[in-house]
Amino acid sequence: MRTWSDLCLICSGQQEFVVNVHEAGPYERSHDYTRVLFCAACSVGELRAFSYDGFVVFGEEDEVMVWSSILSASDVERLRTGFACTVPLAGGCECPQHVRAYDTSVRVNKTRLPEHGPDRHSPAGRSTATVLVAGGLAEFASS
Ligand SMILES: [Zn+2]
Ligand SMILES: [Zn+2]
Repeated sequence: MRTWSDLCLICSGQQEFVVNVHEAGPYERSHDYTRVLFCAACSVGELRAFSYDGFVVFGEEDEVMVWSSILSASDVERLRTGFACTVPLAGGCECPQHVRAYDTSVRVNKTRLPEHGPDRHSPAGRSTATVLVAGGLAEFASS
């Protein structure tokens, strides 16, 4: 099983794992997750959706797809304080907060990161997202 990095797209440094919005796996042939990451060095957060599908036919589709949307430091802070679940890193949690966060994260505009080439780890042109707190639950929105 391979492991994947959650490094910062700007400085390539290790990012803080703030919230595991949703995670399925890792399994031998698949792994999906949506995470909020924060780079203290760059003071920039990120909503990252990752999908590994080891069943795709070679050449038809990429095995690994990554999408990213930028979150400002203040949005990450709002998420930290507003996230109404005691186990934010539990990606399999099905509490109302985790469900709301995942449902809204799916609808947020994200930019697919190219798998190869110089733009692989470029933050250029990424979408931006924001965090709102509504009805006592934190959620994501495009900004
Ligand atoms: Zn960074
Ligand atoms: Zn939860």
